[in-house]
Amino acid sequence: MECKTCGNSHPEKFCPSCGEKSFDPKQLSLKEFAEELFEGFMHFDNKFFRTVKMLITKPGQLSLEYTHGRRVYFMRPIQFFLVVNLLFFVLAFHNMYSLSLYNYITFTPFTNYNTKQIIGGLLAEKHLTLAEYTQLFNEKIKVLSKEMIFLFIPLYGGIFALFFFKKKQYFVEHLTFATHFCAFILLLALASFYFVTLPFYAITRISYSADFDNISSLLTTACVGIYAAVAINRFYKPHLIWSIVVALLIAGSFFSFIQFYRMILFFQIVRFGH
Ligand SMILES: [Zn+2]
Repeated sequence: MECKTCGNSHPEKFCPSCGEKSFDPKQLSLKEFAEELFEGFMHFDNKFFRTVKMLITKPGQLSLEYTHGRRVYFMRPIQFFLVVNLLFFVLAFHNMYSLSLYNYITFTPFTNYNTKQIIGGLLAEKHLTLAEYTQLFNEKIKVLSKEMIFLFIPLYGGIFALFFFKKKQYFVEHLTFATHFCAFILLLALASFYFVTLPFYAITRISYSADFDNISSLLTTACVGIYAAVAINRFYKPHLIWSIVVALLIAGSFFSFIQFYRMILFFQIVRFGH
């Protein structure tokens, strides 16, 4: 049998040189098509949920699997992150990454960056009302926060590379670990949105509580820190004390990085309009 893609002759089901599946015109039947579609979905589902399960139940293991070459059973890091990112921004319609303009011009620490004056100047310059600009801004930040969230991967990759430069040879190993870590953060935020935030506001029927916000931020930080410690311990295998120290630093700086990210988004939108 000859491979339809590269012309290599072989008797196997898949071409050993390019991986193409042996072709039979019967594969063009509607029945085969439906089977392939179903299989595609099932396969995607299985792989995705298997990856999520491994990410949550054995922190750090997914990165070990990938960097040790066991890649068939799980989604690849970036592919996985893309799917999680998509799910997150569709499902978590209120999230800590894309705040509305109201938050930026009302609360500290945002107002410390002259957000009120900047928006005031912009409205005068563009002859827009606050309501009109709010709508524009809120639409833009939704798109931009989804695109820019990838910045967290090299950021954390760099941090892990710095702390564990003695342990691993390739930067991609740190990037892999960082990608899984960032995917976990998004899944954690998604879970806390549906299982903590939404139920809380649904039950209490209040519109905003600063106390609740502080407590849930504290819980998130604790989860991030514990997860980081376990994942670091499994992936880098440092001295336990070092795992804890790095995890504490990661957890301690967690919201500062998000805050920094929010300001980047704000200035990107008001300066360049996108
Ligand atoms: Zn071939």
